[in-house]
Amino acid sequence: MKQNDLFMDSSILYRSTQKFFDKKLQPFQLTYAQLPVLIMVYENEGISMQEIASQGLYDKGTITKNVQKLETLHYLHVVSSNKDKRSKELYTTRKAKEIMSHVYEIRRDWWKQLNAEMTKADIEQFSQYFMHVCEKSKKLMEFSQESVKFYKHQKVNLNMFPNHISTVFYTGGCNFQCKHCPNPDLVFIKQNMVEIPMEYIKSFLTKRKKNIQAICISGGEPCIHDNLSSFLSYGKQLGYKMCIRTNGSYPYTLIDWIEEGLLDYVILDIKQSNTCYSDIIGMEDYDVSNINQTINYLQTSHFPFSYQLALSKEFHNEKRIMEIGKWLQSDVEMRLSSIDLDQEEFNKLSTILKQYLPNLKIQGDIL
Ligand code: SF4
Repeated sequence: MKQNDLFMDSSILYRSTQKFFDKKLQPFQLTYAQLPVLIMVYENEGISMQEIASQGLYDKGTITKNVQKLETLHYLHVVSSNKDKRSKELYTTRKAKEIMSHVYEIRRDWWKQLNAEMTKADIEQFSQYFMHVCEKSKKLMEFSQESVKFYKHQKVNLNMFPNHISTVFYTGGCNFQCKHCPNPDLVFIKQNMVEIPMEYIKSFLTKRKKNIQAICISGGEPCIHDNLSSFLSYGKQLGYKMCIRTNGSYPYTLIDWIEEGLLDYVILDIKQSNTCYSDIIGMEDYDVSNINQTINYLQTSHFPFSYQLALSKEFHNEKRIMEIGKWLQSDVEMRLSSIDLDQEEFNKLSTILKQYLPNLKIQGDIL
């Protein structure tokens, strides 16, 4: 029997399908690239870009490009969701509805030509096999061991996500080197540090769904890991609320995750007053503009979040606390803890801060 090369065969199938559709879709100014998006929206009016990306395993850039093209051609229109203003809903236009029967006809025609010499049973068997292989490859791509590494796990935490029982996973690596970091082993990762097996994580999360409501990701700095998004998406699919504790220095990554609907809560660690951030984080001349961008986004979008600040003798005094208060002034919750202050000093500083951040909560460090 002739040995076939499945990879080459699937590549040939993809390219010939693309050529066929590109030619047939020319009268509608469409290409094969836009077709799956158009069909998904037509069959699920109101679907979001995130849902399309997750169902079709597209990256965000590809979806955005194709949606923009379809919008320009007046096949789609994009509206802000009533439920969540950050989320966009996609709908087909009248122009799209008018051509969809032709699109389905082209698709059916291609399928018919491909299967012309096959029996009904063969087609059925092939379809089942193909569906199985696609589902399997999707699962492998969506969430694999390579997608993210966690080095610590706190099974139950009652502080991080307000009014929720959480479990906390810790990523490794950080762009800061804070003097009083609670997790230095996660910043300076030793070569023999062993990650938690993904099988354990999956099994834990699947079994504990009844008792735990939220997954929090801490570190290190979680936002240095672009590929964390697949884990956030996995947690959401399981029905958990998702929370990130961040130092706020990666606004674009954080905003992307929020706008993709992957996060429900953010804890923003503030280290020092904006005028002298460098001394505490171990970086010379650190410019706080990224942190400012994170703060501005969180405050203006009204996304649920809180500040976290740990006070130390070495870095915090009345002047610095007043600067922090003026910088962050708002009704946002501020969680305050002490690293090494005595009670009297801690009370004095917390009283000053409360003038600017009245929603101040005293707590032990949440780690
Ligand atoms: S930002 Fe957080 S994890 Fe990173 S060094 Fe500072 S305290 Fe540690």
